[in-house]
Amino acid sequence: MMRASIGTLAVLGLRNIHMSAVPTTAYLMTGDRCTGDCAYCGQGRSVAGDHNYLSRVTWPEVREEQLIAALTAHPGAFRRICFQTTASRGVLRQLLLLVPRVRQASGLPVSVSYRVTRDDEADQLFAAGVERIGIAIDCCSESLYSSVRGGRLAESKALVTHLAARYPGRITTHLIIGLGETEREAAELILELRRCGVLVSLFAFTPVARTRMEHRSPPALISYRKLQFLVGVLDAGGGEVLDITYGDGGRIRSFGLSEARMRSMVQEQFMFVTHGCAGCNRPFYTEAPGGIMFNFPSVPGDTAAREINEFIDGLKQDGFVFQDSGDASAAAGNTRVFR
Ligand code: SF4
Repeated sequence: MMRASIGTLAVLGLRNIHMSAVPTTAYLMTGDRCTGDCAYCGQGRSVAGDHNYLSRVTWPEVREEQLIAALTAHPGAFRRICFQTTASRGVLRQLLLLVPRVRQASGLPVSVSYRVTRDDEADQLFAAGVERIGIAIDCCSESLYSSVRGGRLAESKALVTHLAARYPGRITTHLIIGLGETEREAAELILELRRCGVLVSLFAFTPVARTRMEHRSPPALISYRKLQFLVGVLDAGGGEVLDITYGDGGRIRSFGLSEARMRSMVQEQFMFVTHGCAGCNRPFYTEAPGGIMFNFPSVPGDTAAREINEFIDGLKQDGFVFQDSGDASAAAGNTRVFR
């Protein structure tokens, strides 16, 4: 028995639910009760009761044979397969058996979100047909890392950057924004990881019932948007020069770009859609339908212009400095240039 996200099962005709947006990746989950105890995760060992949730999504059980048959019967339903895993015994062995079967049934690229601890584990996964491995760093703050996730940020970073050097273009990481980090901590980590060739995928913290962080709030939307903009610019690879300055409380105060330039960049490439492995859109993973849309599953044709206006207005209200406002050098000494 394994699990699949409820949206994945609906696309495969194994559940009948209404969906406001359809997943373009089949999200599967394998592994038993997690031995980890992240303060924000509904799969953690100290979370009592229902373990059917990861973020806001329910993951019903499904028989492996049923899943393989459904994938075979629905060619073209997805663009990618993604395995989420819990930290539990036997997960690697399970993945090594499942990945070839799922690949054969679907013909799709496979991502695996799995905490590789040795190079030979990654070797085995790639040999089994995995295209990309995701190793979640999650928390962007060294000072918070041990309390919210356990371990040290430096160690997670070293693991991810080592693997990115060994397997260029095949390593993804997830960062959760809103765990208490500053924008500066998140931005600096994103810059460092991108320089090492790691694909960064952002999640907005979402409070999950019965976790230690169930009463915390999601991040401020403008903070999240600034970081999405940063990731979008870096991944677009257009040679844009960013001159990032930080203000009080580690807030991103400027990207060294004019208002017109920032506006046109978001118009050219709407950076507020889910960003990750190609084909991954994670609909409503961290959003309630009708609530704040941190990650759009696709470009919202009817509201994109409004979102862009709200982004620019939100920056102004946040004290953000555009290059053409004559105050861009105010935070000199905090500057980082990235091309
Ligand atoms: S970015 Fe999407 S497809 Fe890639 S590992 Fe993360 S959830 Fe899976």
